[in-house]
Amino acid sequence: MKNVIFIAAPASGKGTLSSLLKERCGYNHISTGDLLRNIIKEKSELGLEVEKVISSGKLVNDELMFRIVREYLEKIDKSKPFILDGLPRTLDQAKYLDTLLSELNIDDYKVIYLDIDEETASKRALGRQTCTNCGASYNKFFEDFMSKEEGICDKCGNELISRSDDNEESFKVRFKTFTDNTLPILDYYRNENKVSDIDCSKYTNDEIFDIIVSMVK
Ligand code: AMP
Repeated sequence: MKNVIFIAAPASGKGTLSSLLKERCGYNHISTGDLLRNIIKEKSELGLEVEKVISSGKLVNDELMFRIVREYLEKIDKSKPFILDGLPRTLDQAKYLDTLLSELNIDDYKVIYLDIDEETASKRALGRQTCTNCGASYNKFFEDFMSKEEGICDKCGNELISRSDDNEESFKVRFKTFTDNTLPILDYYRNENKVSDIDCSKYTNDEIFDIIVSMVK
């Protein structure tokens, strides 16, 4: 299986799809958003700074992102393929990643673009809830994804919370940041014939999972 780099609109489902690929196909999953949220938990000065940026929906500076992705990729288990979920988000990050991957002798990867219209993405983001204990995810706006009891995890009975950046104002900024800064990266990868596109508004996550598996074989 090839390594995967997701270029994905906010709330297109990249987190869920990455978990499925990890569970069912043994991928390493690197989510830069999760790595940053771990830094926030440390409550350091850097953590407080990162928290402010993430809550606003803007992008964390490239220098920090370069350091995070380098540290992570240098120590991953190379016997498994990886999914890079959340980076690159700027053209400079894409160029940095290119250099890093060639330094690490990694050239076998596919860029998968997860596209979604803003209205569907917004509904998904604003309803999204995650269990504070086991990480299971739910959505209060979609019947198939609601928890049985509001705000409580079906699996372990713990509290469900929303991400601090899943509010209307921050979501708008995130979507615009994606359109302005991240979408142009696709042309960079298209020139190298690395990109496969999926319209996530049209399919269920299981269908998208099958499509991805056929793309990375
Ligand atoms: P995500 O979990 O991928 O939706 O990321 C949540 C937030 O983390 C983003 O809205 C950004 O503020 C920040 N972030 C994650 N990855 C990056 C990145 N590659 N560059 C800059 N900021 C990032």
